[in-house]
Amino acid sequence: MAYSLPRISRRSIESGPLSMWRYASLLPVPADVATRPNLDPGWTRLIRADQLAKTLGMRELWIKDERGNPTHSFKDRVVGVALAAAIELGFKVLACPSTGNLANAVAAAAARAGIRSVVIIPADLEPQKILGSAVYGCALVAVRGSYDDANRLASELADEREDWAFVNVNVRPYYAEGSKTIGFEIAEQLGWKLPEQIVVPVASGAQLVKVDKAFRELVSTGLVEGTPYRVFGAQATGCSPVSAAFRAGHDVVQPVRPATVAKSLAIGNPADGPFVLDVVRRTGGAVEDVSDDDLVDAIRLLAATEGVFAETAGGVTLAVLRKLLKEGQIDPDARTVVINSGDGLKTPDAIADSIPAPEAIPATLAAFGALEPSLRPVTADGVSRQAVSAREAGTA
Ligand SMILES: *Cc1c(COP(=O)(O)O)cnc(C)c1O
Repeated sequence: MAYSLPRISRRSIESGPLSMWRYASLLPVPADVATRPNLDPGWTRLIRADQLAKTLGMRELWIKDERGNPTHSFKDRVVGVALAAAIELGFKVLACPSTGNLANAVAAAAARAGIRSVVIIPADLEPQKILGSAVYGCALVAVRGSYDDANRLASELADEREDWAFVNVNVRPYYAEGSKTIGFEIAEQLGWKLPEQIVVPVASGAQLVKVDKAFRELVSTGLVEGTPYRVFGAQATGCSPVSAAFRAGHDVVQPVRPATVAKSLAIGNPADGPFVLDVVRRTGGAVEDVSDDDLVDAIRLLAATEGVFAETAGGVTLAVLRKLLKEGQIDPDARTVVINSGDGLKTPDAIADSIPAPEAIPATLAAFGALEPSLRPVTADGVSRQAVSAREAGTA
C-alpha cells in the first residue's frame, strides 16, 4: 500500500480539502484518497456552547458535532479509511457487524464507491437506523441477539469469505485510525491547541483511544504544543463494562449483557476496553456512566441551550460531563470539549415519552388565546429552560 510521506505543516493541512482528508498524510490511506469516489466525511463543526456552559457553571465548553457527517455520525470517518484500505487491498465486498450507525456509514460509502455491502445488525435496532442502511441498497442481515452476537457471526464469516472486508473486524486497524481525525480537527479548530479536558463516548472504545493518539501525534509532529489534557470516557449504566472496570481499579473488562436505550453504545464486550482504561488513567481522566433518564435529560438540555439534537450517545456523553462536574472530577474553569457523535433524528423513540405531542386546536385567535396560558415559558434571557429539566425542578 502506498503511503504518502508525512511532510506536514499547519499550512499544508489548512490548504487541504474541507474534509477529514486534509489529514491524509497522518492516515494509512493512499495519497490521492480525496480524489476517489467517497463520502468526504469530517470537518464537522466545533461549536462554542456558551449557553450550555452557563447552565452548567463552566467557563469554556465546546461541542464537536458529528451530526455534520454524510450519514450523520462519526462512523463515516472510520469507514472512510477502512474503505480506502479495503479497495487498495483488493477486497470486493464492504461489510460490518453494527449497532446501527456503522451500518448506515458502510452502506452509503459502498454505494458511492460502487461496491457491494453486507451489514449485520441486532434485530431490535431503531427503525431509523435499519431504514438508513437499507435505503443505500446494502444486503441487510438482522440477527436475533445482541451486537455481540452479530460481531461473533461477522468474525466467523471474515475467516471464510476472503474477499469481504469487515471494516471493524479484519480491517479494524485501518478503521480505528479514522477516529484520529476527530482529535486532529478539534485541535485545529481550537487554533492549533489541545483542549484541557475532553469527554468521549465509549462503545468498543476505539474512538476514545484514537482521539488520545491524535493529540499525541499532533504533539510529536510539532503541529501543537504538548499541553496537558485529561480524557474522560462516557457509558450508559445499562452497558458500562469499562466504567465498572475503571471504578474497580481493574485492567481487564468483564463483558456484560447490554440493556440501555443508548443502542449505539451497547457493546457488552468492548474490544478496546483495556486501552481506554490505559488512556484515562495516564491522562488523569475517568470513565463514568449515567442512567437512561439522565441521558434523555441531557439530550433535551443540549437541544434547548444550543440547538443541537444529539442521539442517545451524545446524551450519554453530556450527562457524564454533568455527573463528573457534580462529583468535582471535571474542572469547570478548564477548556472542555464534549463529543456529540450522532444525530437525535435517528433515535427519536428514546425521548418521545418525555416530550408530549401538542394538542391540535382550531386555527383561530380565540383558540390560541385559550391555549396561551398553558404554553411553556421562555425565560428572560431568551432560552427555553424547560429542558434544563422539569424533572430536576420537580415540576414533572
Ligand atoms: C459507534 C458509536 C460510538 C462509539 O464508538 P467506539 O469507537 O466503538 O467506542 C459512539 N457514538 C456513536 C453515535 C456511535 O455510533
